[in-house]
Amino acid sequence: MLEKLRVIVWTSAMVTDATAESVTVRKGGKIEKILTRTILWAAGVLASPLGRLLSDQANAPMDRAGRVIVEPDLTIPGHPEIFVIGDLANYSHQTGKPLPGIAQAAIQQGAYVAKAIVQRLRGRAIKPFRYFDKGNLAVIGRGKAVADLNRLRISGFPAWLIWIFVHLLYIVEFQNRLLVFIQWGWFYFTYDRSARLITGKNPLPLDL
Ligand SMILES: Cc1cc2nc3c(=O)[nH]c(=O)nc-3n(C[C@H](O)[C@H](O)[C@H](O)COP(=O)(O)OP(=O)(O)OC[C@H]3O[C@@H](n4cnc5c(N)ncnc54)[C@H](O)[C@@H]3O)c2cc1C
Repeated sequence: MLEKLRVIVWTSAMVTDATAESVTVRKGGKIEKILTRTILWAAGVLASPLGRLLSDQANAPMDRAGRVIVEPDLTIPGHPEIFVIGDLANYSHQTGKPLPGIAQAAIQQGAYVAKAIVQRLRGRAIKPFRYFDKGNLAVIGRGKAVADLNRLRISGFPAWLIWIFVHLLYIVEFQNRLLVFIQWGWFYFTYDRSARLITGKNPLPLDL
């Protein structure tokens, strides 16, 4: 799909350097320097510094990305009163690997913890957290998306329609859904930009 959009995809390639005018990539034994002033980094983010604080003050174990390694009930070892969820949590009890840092994991963990607290107050035992993977959706261009619905993989315009439907479904209240739907329709047909970037200063040289 990305290649159809004329994107050149490199796998097994490691960025070794990035400057204001270039990015250097190592692929196999070869080093390549790509001259560019625009570099978008999407290879992951570090967890909040709160993880380090929990590690220092409550001995919470951490992984390399700064996430807190949590117990099956999303608490930290020796501290049943502290829950860690979402991007800050490394929960590996289901598949052996940490859950992806995406909204559906954070939302499900939030709901679990709310129920767990109520159960505790009622003096009942808490079952371990279980993640339900609803699949993944991503928009990759105008009218183009990819949908990985576990057993079903769709791409292109149908996946884009599914993306719109699912996201509208998650917006609270009918009025808001209608408003967002009209706005998206407007942006689509007028080519208006739905995201505005606010930067402190003009990042481009004035002579451009
Ligand atoms: C650019 C980008 C695009 C993304 N796109 C998608 C997507 O399309 N689909 C998807 O599923 N996921 C996406 N994600 C991931 C998704 O946003 C996160 O997985 C999700 O928001 C995690 O929720 P969270 O509650 O753990 O953390 P957050 O949503 O980051 O919330 C943490 C909150 O804690 C606050 N906070 C931090 N430190 C402190 C402190 N010391 N005291 C008080 N408050 C504090 C922060 O200000 C923030 O409001 C995207 C992430 C990024 C960065």
